[in-house]
Amino acid sequence: MMPVMDGKTVLKRMRSRDLLSQIPVIVLTSETDAEVESLQMGAADFIKKPYDMPAVIMARVNRTVELAEDRHIIDVAETDDLTGLYNREFFFEYASTMDERYPGTRMDAIVVDMDHFHLYNEMYGREAGDEALRRLGAGLREELQRIPGIGCRYGADTFFLYSAHVEDHTAVLERLMRGLSNLETGVIHLRMGVCTRDDKAQDIIGRFDRARAACNRVRGDYLKPLAYYDENLYRNDIKSHQLVSEMKDAIRTRQFMVYYQPKYRVSGDKPVLCSAEALVRWKHPDMGMISPGVFIPLFESNGMIRELDSFVWRETAENIARWRSLYGVSLPVSVNMSRIDLFDGELLTRLDSICKNNGLAHNMLVLEITESAYTEDMEQAISVIRQLRENGYCIEMDDFGTGYSSLNMLLKMPVDAIKVDRDFMRTISSDSHDNWLIKIIVDIAGHLGVPTIFEGVEEQPQLDLIRQMKGDIVQGYYFSRPLPADQFEELIQKERGGMTQC
Ligand code: C2E
Ligand code: CA
Ligand code: CA
Repeated sequence: MMPVMDGKTVLKRMRSRDLLSQIPVIVLTSETDAEVESLQMGAADFIKKPYDMPAVIMARVNRTVELAEDRHIIDVAETDDLTGLYNREFFFEYASTMDERYPGTRMDAIVVDMDHFHLYNEMYGREAGDEALRRLGAGLREELQRIPGIGCRYGADTFFLYSAHVEDHTAVLERLMRGLSNLETGVIHLRMGVCTRDDKAQDIIGRFDRARAACNRVRGDYLKPLAYYDENLYRNDIKSHQLVSEMKDAIRTRQFMVYYQPKYRVSGDKPVLCSAEALVRWKHPDMGMISPGVFIPLFESNGMIRELDSFVWRETAENIARWRSLYGVSLPVSVNMSRIDLFDGELLTRLDSICKNNGLAHNMLVLEITESAYTEDMEQAISVIRQLRENGYCIEMDDFGTGYSSLNMLLKMPVDAIKVDRDFMRTISSDSHDNWLIKIIVDIAGHLGVPTIFEGVEEQPQLDLIRQMKGDIVQGYYFSRPLPADQFEELIQKERGGMTQC
């Protein structure tokens, strides 16, 4: 009686196909004599017309499903109560099965995340949070009617979709956002990360890890909330992770080294070696020399920079003392201070004990503090810096020109020297506007009564211009690259004639 083919043909066809033969079939018919034949052809159960009560039919269906489950013939979806999407275990199992069964189909791994969901929950209450999740769940289920695939609620506010490839996901994200746009309470932003790479050799969890990395990259970026996974960026993330996990060991096994880049006073007739900057290097056993531009921001973001900086300060203090006793020179060396050090309650104690252990006056270990640290939390920064200066430390304002100090602020800021950012050197001879800026900076420093230090000086014309503008001190490849301690020591030996003696 069925259209296209009758029930027996359906059973026969299903049995002959691998995929379909596993599905339990219940035959409902008025042909009473068909019972034995149906069961012989593989039907799991047989229900005769006139049918029993619906509850009885339901019970028999459930029973058949249970039997099939027990025999691991089928899996029954395990879903999340709130959204009706699969839970994560079931999702991954199902996704792998899909890969096995349809190896030729190109699939996208998609991660959808709510920005600041915990804040939303806190502000508007759990009920409102649940409502938002429900809405998003419904939106995702609707998408899965459009694009074949499956979805799950992966974490509290994180959702995964594994669906047939589409070229552009902007429309998907926009539809989902629209679904959330008329919530009664505050606005919720979504972000989406997509891994379209159809490398089925890569396990499914790996592909979602990549989609998640892409999604994290646009955290809080309301203007660009969609990101595609990019192999290079991912490798960087992995590398960052590795570096962070190796840092403690690296300090212990002395993989970090301190290099010294000389600073020359150029205000007199002949340049004189007057100081140096300590710059840290990481000699990694597998990756070779790693630039501080790569690892310093990582260690700043997790607070480990305190430990590394303390190490650099100690090394530097030991060397200042060593050079004084070996060559009789008084050579102050500057160290970099990260903003995390600046707000560390133990800062003064740390510095004092390093100086004391090496018999150094506090003004021998000069502190470089980047301009933006001054401007970010001005009151606090200025109070710490005042305290440092009261205790005899000298402060150089580093990377001057990259922050937002106004002239008015500058007058209030406690500093002992201004160190002009090396970006100014890049354009110095080609752009007269920057030349003019340099003149102004020198004038400001003059008003404050502090010297100027120019870093990144590579060429003779740059040096000439600085001298012409009455800049005081120069640091850069023109004189020397940062040097390991032993080579810097040789430089001191060569230059000690013109230097300040103890
Ligand atoms: P920075 O404090 O501005 O350091 C100056 C940077 O300019 C150094 O890069 C130095 O090698 C480079 N440089 C010096 N002369 C020249 C030149 O003539 N031309 C060019 N193109 N570059 C020049 P480096 O060593 O890679 O350090 C990068 C940044 O890492 C530093 O910038 C500093 O912010 C941070 N850093 C380095 N060592 C430490 C440290 O021990 N602690 C902390 N907290 N930060 C550090
Ligand atoms: Ca510096
Ligand atoms: Ca600098």
